[in-house]
Amino acid sequence: MTDFPIDDRNRLRRKPARGSFDRDIIYPIIDEAPICHVGFAENGQPFVIPTLHARHDDTLILHGAKASRLLKHIEAGHPVCVAFTLLDGIVLARSAFSSSVNYRSAVVFGAGRIIDAEDEKMHALELVTNHIVPGRWSEARIPTPKEMHATSVVSITIEQASAKVRSGPPGDEEEDYALPIWAGVLPLATWVGDPVPDPRLAEGIPTPESVGRYVQSQTR
Ligand SMILES: Cc1cc2nc3c(=O)[nH]c(=O)nc-3n(C[C@H](O)[C@H](O)[C@H](O)COP(=O)(O)OP(=O)(O)OC[C@H]3O[C@@H](n4cnc5c(N)ncnc54)[C@H](O)[C@@H]3O)c2cc1C
Repeated sequence: MTDFPIDDRNRLRRKPARGSFDRDIIYPIIDEAPICHVGFAENGQPFVIPTLHARHDDTLILHGAKASRLLKHIEAGHPVCVAFTLLDGIVLARSAFSSSVNYRSAVVFGAGRIIDAEDEKMHALELVTNHIVPGRWSEARIPTPKEMHATSVVSITIEQASAKVRSGPPGDEEEDYALPIWAGVLPLATWVGDPVPDPRLAEGIPTPESVGRYVQSQTR
């Protein structure tokens, strides 16, 4: 059984047929999303903050400056809601009303803790680094004790989650299919350009394997 428990927090009310509570649907969305948006409330004021992430089993890992309000909120054990969005296409229906987007999105609920133990913290930072470009950690210089001290790393237990996916052509009203209006889908994908070497790169350093693999994997 890979489904998350469902209650009022994660039950899809709008278009539930597009939804799923299955880890096998939800986790690939989290893993493919380069960034997430973390929502939390403080004294009744909602905030939504974009940030990098990584996933390890049923936990999310976030990192940042020690002074980060978001990380302090999580360290204190308060609940958060994290959203992940992959945009796959613009759906142009014959009517403005039925126009839409194709997407894969996930919403996660949980609460977290700070990761203090040095080896666990280092491993969590490795996961976040490799989430962006797989394999980059083993090519880069690892953090110094001073950098580690300046960084907070938190782990959020995924208590509940949901996914919602739209794919396919527009869904126009039956009478609109006869209209002389173009309809269809504009596929969207993240574009990855050729690597741009740092102007201060020392001579003779080739593009690393991780970067080559990443560019290859993102190129159609
Ligand atoms: C890129 C993108 C663009 C969208 N544009 C629109 C738009 O313009 N108008 C519009 O009405 N809707 C849009 N949606 C759908 C939108 O995300 C909501 O699902 C919808 O608006 C219903 O909101 P609600 O609060 O009534 O959801 P409810 O169904 O009441 O939400 C209940 C629970 O369902 C889950 N849930 C809801 N939405 C999502 C989701 N997208 N992904 C994962 N879990 C979810 C959450 O756990 C949530 O707590 C868009 C979605 C994406 C990903």
